[in-house]
Amino acid sequence: MHGKPSPLNDLQSAMKNWRHDFHRYPEQGFEEHRTSKIVAGLLSDFGLEVHKGVGGTGVVGVLQKGDSEKSIGLRADMDALQITEQNMFEHRSQHEGQMHACGHDGHTAMLLGAAQHLAKSGNFDGTVTFIFQPAEEHGKGALAMMDDGLFERFSADAIYAMHNFPSLPTGSFAMKPGPIMACEDNFEIRIEGKGTHAALPHRGVDPIVIASEIVMALQSIVSRTVDPMSCSVISVTEFLTDGARNILPNEVILKGDTRSFGGDMQNHIEQTMERIVTGTCSAHGARGHFQYSREFAATINTRQETEIAAEVARKIAGPEHVDAACASIMTSEDFGFMLQHKPGCYILIGNGGEGPGGCGLHNPSYDFNDDILSIGAEFWTALVEDQLAV
Ligand SMILES: [Zn+2]
Ligand SMILES: [Zn+2]
Repeated sequence: MHGKPSPLNDLQSAMKNWRHDFHRYPEQGFEEHRTSKIVAGLLSDFGLEVHKGVGGTGVVGVLQKGDSEKSIGLRADMDALQITEQNMFEHRSQHEGQMHACGHDGHTAMLLGAAQHLAKSGNFDGTVTFIFQPAEEHGKGALAMMDDGLFERFSADAIYAMHNFPSLPTGSFAMKPGPIMACEDNFEIRIEGKGTHAALPHRGVDPIVIASEIVMALQSIVSRTVDPMSCSVISVTEFLTDGARNILPNEVILKGDTRSFGGDMQNHIEQTMERIVTGTCSAHGARGHFQYSREFAATINTRQETEIAAEVARKIAGPEHVDAACASIMTSEDFGFMLQHKPGCYILIGNGGEGPGGCGLHNPSYDFNDDILSIGAEFWTALVEDQLAV
């Protein structure tokens, strides 16, 4: 930890208790009934105006002081993953096969800490909208809250979200203007050939050989048709047949995932994939069926809000612990959908480089680092007091 003692230190043990409780009882997307009930109850205890059931299991808390029209939105995600936890510590998951392996338990606890502090002793003039979002992992929760009128019913001139990041030193911050996280698209390709005896391939149309050509050709899209200085990736993750050893099947299904930073690149990938599938199948006398779905938008920070977040982070963590031009990351985050409607910034907070905090996200041995709860909450309160200054 860095610098002077945080004014949020007195909330550290409360945040840690909330965090361990959420960790013990993880809930997956749109099933966060227990979590959202606890969040709503605490916000109400702190004196906030509470709105439950926003986009399913989402909760919004509104805190207003003074009479300024200015407002800010702070977002935390609440959902867990379908992973069997391997940790043996006291707060390990009690829900078989489910786990907080992405630290959303910590994000929720930090934002609750900030809400309590701001309600009790926050010095600001305006409205803070606390957004507790369900179902981030599937990329559906942000859209569900927006479809339920999030930005029509609640005010937010700009929005901010924070995610812990293993490998980044404990309590340091990183952000960048522009694309910080990739968009995620999924695809399914069905190659319809003609099944035959394994010993008589000339009597059929072998979809396995055609699908293999397609897998290889898809790898030429990024390496041969995309500017080497730009970032994108195409991964075929499943190659499915009905699996009889001495029979060439009728069809093969390929599934997979692509990442890029959206826009022309996303269109280029989709169109080129489709052309390769259709062309390769047609060259071999098979039929190709191509489905492509856009799951997550790219997370694109606005320049001004990124500079605001960086300046606040420098004040509380020290300039040497803030990287305001960090590298983009090819994983995805559904806060990107919210950033399509509001200016804002997605911020990374270091979960630690070694030891328990250094274990990667979505790993069965991962745990959120309790040492960053107070600095994360302090960031939120400092951001509010800076942006809604009296
Ligand atoms: Zn995750
Ligand atoms: Zn996450």
